Amino acid sequence: LRRPAHPGGPPPGFVPDLAEGSRVRAADRAHLFHSWMAQDAVDPIPVAGGSGRYFWDYGGRRYLDFSSQFINLNIGHGHPKVIAAIKEQADRLCMIASTFANDQRGEAARLIAELAPGDLDRVFFTNGGAEANEHAVRMARMHTGRPKVLSAYRSYHGGTATAIGLTGDPRRWANQNSGSASGNIAHFFGPYLYRSHFHAATEAEESARALEHLEQVIVFEGPGTVAAVVLETVVGTAGILVPPPGYLAGVRELCDRYGIVFVADEVMSGFGRVGEWFAVDHWNVTPDLITFAKGVNSGYVPLGGVVMSEAIYDSFRTVTYPGGLTYSGHPLACAAAVATITAMKEEGIVENAARIGEQVIGPGLREIAGRHPSVGEVRGLGVFWAVELVHDRETREMLVPYAASGAATRPVDEVVAACRAGGMWPVYNFNRIHVVPPCTITDAEAREGLAILDQALYRADAYTT
Ligand code: PLP
Repeated sequence: LRRPAHPGGPPPGFVPDLAEGSRVRAADRAHLFHSWMAQDAVDPIPVAGGSGRYFWDYGGRRYLDFSSQFINLNIGHGHPKVIAAIKEQADRLCMIASTFANDQRGEAARLIAELAPGDLDRVFFTNGGAEANEHAVRMARMHTGRPKVLSAYRSYHGGTATAIGLTGDPRRWANQNSGSASGNIAHFFGPYLYRSHFHAATEAEESARALEHLEQVIVFEGPGTVAAVVLETVVGTAGILVPPPGYLAGVRELCDRYGIVFVADEVMSGFGRVGEWFAVDHWNVTPDLITFAKGVNSGYVPLGGVVMSEAIYDSFRTVTYPGGLTYSGHPLACAAAVATITAMKEEGIVENAARIGEQVIGPGLREIAGRHPSVGEVRGLGVFWAVELVHDRETREMLVPYAASGAATRPVDEVVAACRAGGMWPVYNFNRIHVVPPCTITDAEAREGLAILDQALYRADAYTT
């Protein structure tokens, strides 16, 4: 049963153990409640290990990770420097409350402040992205003394009360039925040229009209009541929507004009995903608050946070900030962040993400699109790409989006199943496949994954008209 070790696969000496895999899966199904799913639909693959851009099951079957595990593992699986830093910190001090000064916590904050644009130099640590957005909104409301927050349709900001309220997709409505969403949030449409809400034909038109629309929403809500505009710099979960030139600068200008706090949610787009440390760097825009999580330490230990401008910080010099977390700035998470950021700098990982997007993934996906009538659009940058599937390229009718059909399988499910059968693990959402591998991916691995996707897309072509 021993298999030869091969690059990216299980290490030498790995012994396949399908019986253990079955036990792991059975324990999961006996006791675990899963996120974002009907529990009867849950059927998890038991994972035995991971290294670099691959993970494998108990039978030794390996998958090329084109998902980065919820688009989080920017540095890849099992980075030795990050693992060593966590072990060293665990030996020294596992936990010290945030009222104390701690070397790793201070160093992580310093590194993040150094990377953030403008005068965003102060960091509040949370355990993840949703909490970061909760606190960013609270800070903005206290800073301005205003109640309302504007966020975009087609967005995802997290699963807690305010964060799910900000979220502009159908999950939000389901959560409102459960009573967990918070009030005083209004939504606007951001730019999305492929399905323009503004009947725009060019990026310049889309940008100008989306800004006009946002200003109207601000005016109709009452500028004196709006604390913050919250948006994902590059929309992630809801479609990987890259803002057209001028849009973010325009949002900055509107926020300045009306005294509104500009919150950039970089939970998914930050720390290398788009080939920059922060996505706002692409457009040279400085928001007032940036929220982050995921890539800051690739989730080796949960960590998120808010990095804020001096003006926001000043509001809390003599006024108590009414919020906090037991695990704010957890030493193990901060040690992982210091090691992750340092390794990303030393190994040129952000530059790798930018280059691979420009030279391999972007051109590769465009070439694939040429072969498949089901591909309506490919878009993205860095290691952050979406393939949008359609029934018909002319009408752009979506290829059976999720929950829109009673069919037992959907075309997108078939594409995903074919990718997995080919040994590649993609992300899918609605009528899209997202290509979001770790920032460390090599050219050869990217090409391997794209070749698998290419073959899988013939399943979708069968549904085109
Ligand atoms: N904001 C964005 C843009 C995200 O993509 C996510 C998660 O995917 C979140 C917030 C929520 O982060 P978390 O799941 O760590 O709470």
